[in-house]
Amino acid sequence: MFLWLVLCQRLLTNGERVRRGLSSDPSCPCCGCYNESILHILRDCPHVRTFWQSIIPQAYHECFFGALLEHWIVSNIKATRAFGRDTPPWSLFFSSFIWQVWKRRNDFVFNGECLPLPDIYRIGFVWASHFAASIPDAAMDIPAAIDFIQWIAPPHDWLQILDNIPDSIRPLLIRDRDGPPYHHKC
Ligand SMILES: [Zn+2]
Repeated sequence: MFLWLVLCQRLLTNGERVRRGLSSDPSCPCCGCYNESILHILRDCPHVRTFWQSIIPQAYHECFFGALLEHWIVSNIKATRAFGRDTPPWSLFFSSFIWQVWKRRNDFVFNGECLPLPDIYRIGFVWASHFAASIPDAAMDIPAAIDFIQWIAPPHDWLQILDNIPDSIRPLLIRDRDGPPYHHKC
């Protein structure tokens, strides 16, 4: 669900709050960057960026830090390989870690304190490891689960029902040509 909100750009960042007329200050509360976007929180805010750089091989930095939001999320959740000995698949760690980074940001904003990033890393790692151990291998077919990214627009004034979604992410998706996906639980 969190990844879905990220892909739909529904997280209430300060940039998004200004866009909705809820605030006049779009800046990042952590570093003061002018516009706090989703990518800024999850990847580009200096402390988070430094941490990503410490765990991602140099050869991947240009691709990792140069990607736009959708491509960044999709390419990382498609990467099912483990990223080291006795580690969970990268996709699970990545998903778990960015969720923890978002919660860490909210702890800082609303409670004035947050865990250090190495602790966030450990929590993300443990969550991903437990999840990897609790699901059958077949459910790790992540590329099949994101076929909706290769969506073809329906004609104007039509709604399209996307029902070829794997059972593991069973919600039915309905959307028109231009609007955001409508999310409906079966
Ligand atoms: Zn920042």
